[in-house]
Formats: sequence, structure tokens, C-alpha cells
Amino acid sequence: MPMVEEEFPQGEALPKTEASRVRLGPPEDSGPRPSRIPRSKVRRWVSPFDRDGSKPAVSVFLTQPAFVRICSLAGRDLDNEVGGALIGQWRIDNPSGEQFIVAEAVLPARFTRHGSAFLTFTQDTLVALHGEQEARYPEKRMIGWFHTHPRMGVFLSDYDIWLHQHFFPEPWQVALVIEPHTQIGGFFVREEDGSLDHHRYHGFLEIVGNSGKSLVDWKNLEPDHFEGLTEGAENNE
Ligand SMILES: [Zn+2]
Repeated sequence: MPMVEEEFPQGEALPKTEASRVRLGPPEDSGPRPSRIPRSKVRRWVSPFDRDGSKPAVSVFLTQPAFVRICSLAGRDLDNEVGGALIGQWRIDNPSGEQFIVAEAVLPARFTRHGSAFLTFTQDTLVALHGEQEARYPEKRMIGWFHTHPRMGVFLSDYDIWLHQHFFPEPWQVALVIEPHTQIGGFFVREEDGSLDHHRYHGFLEIVGNSGKSLVDWKNLEPDHFEGLTEGAENNE
């Protein structure tokens, strides 16, 4: 139940000073790398909230290996919340100036405290994730995090929001929530004005590659054309 999670013990999470010390921010160079939005070989999956005029700060792309890995981790424990970090790229499209992120890999969180309705990232969790990212993916960034909500639905609890704002404070960092029983999921992305809604989640763009075959089976997302982000470049195939 969500209410349980909202009663998260402040003492078990990081106090603010500790939080800033282990903040999972971008490398010192900062700034998104110029790149091209992958306009072809992509399938767009839209959530019920994607057509209501919201303006997310970034578009979210997901590679198929990352999607498979996320689903596999999410299904590993159907009774307790599990989670981890999303690793990938933060890019800016030339010449549109549109920012996007590409989730390419996943790191499971360790040293967490978790139960059926809560998941706490401890300081050890964050230090381990940060260290593992630097060791395995030094060229990539921590573009966000994911966790499961067994039998609870897709939303961000008060604690989730707290964790997101403290440890993933960049406008381009996102939170993915998955409900493994009903196979639904969605990305929480800050709006351009910095706001973040507890309930309005977004779909994503699946990089399907040459096969063109989708692997996405989340029941709350609908396939859509790649309109709105592109100006026809995907027709080059
Ligand atoms: Zn949660």
C-alpha cells in the first residue's frame, strides 16, 4: 500500500548533508553531448498521459537490452520492491535543440532496505551504484533510476519524490516505475518548468534496431507513430 511507503523513516534515509555528499550528479564536464535523435528504427510507446499537452524536459529512449534487463530484474521478486540505476547518455539534438536520454544499461541496487511496499536506497546503495557506474560505464551517465511497485500501480510516493529530488536532481534524470504483476510501467519525467507529477507518467521510445521487432509488452502503453519528434527523416528506411 502506498501509505506505508509514505511513512518512510527519515532516519534510515540519508540526511540532507549526507545526500549532497553522495549526490549522483553528472560528471564534471556537464552539458549534453550534441547528437542526433535516433529518428529511424524506433517505436514510440505512449502512456494515457502523453497526449495531454505536457512538455517533458527530455524524451526517453530505451535500448532493447536495457528493457529486457529491467523486466528481468523487476520480475525477480514479485513480493518486494526492487530497484536500481539507469545508465546511458544525455544528448542534445542538432539542430532542433531538443534534449533526450538513452537508457542503455541497468545496475541493480544493493544494500537496500525493502519490503512489500517500500524501498530505501541507503548511503551504501548510492555509493555502490556510483562506484559501479564509474568502473563499468565511465563514459556514460546515471540518467535515472527504476523500482517496482508490486500490486500497487505506477506512481511516485512521497518518499519516491524525495529520493528523486535528492539523488537525481537534474532536469534530465528520470524515474521508472514498474508493476511486475500486471506488466505495466512508466517514466516520470520533469516538465520543462521543473515540476514533477506523482501520477502522470510517460511512455518511451524503443530502439528496435534493424529487426524492427518490438519487445515491449507493457499493457498500459500503446504503440504510436514517431510523429511530433521527427520531420520525416524516419521515412528514409
Ligand atoms: Zn515507490
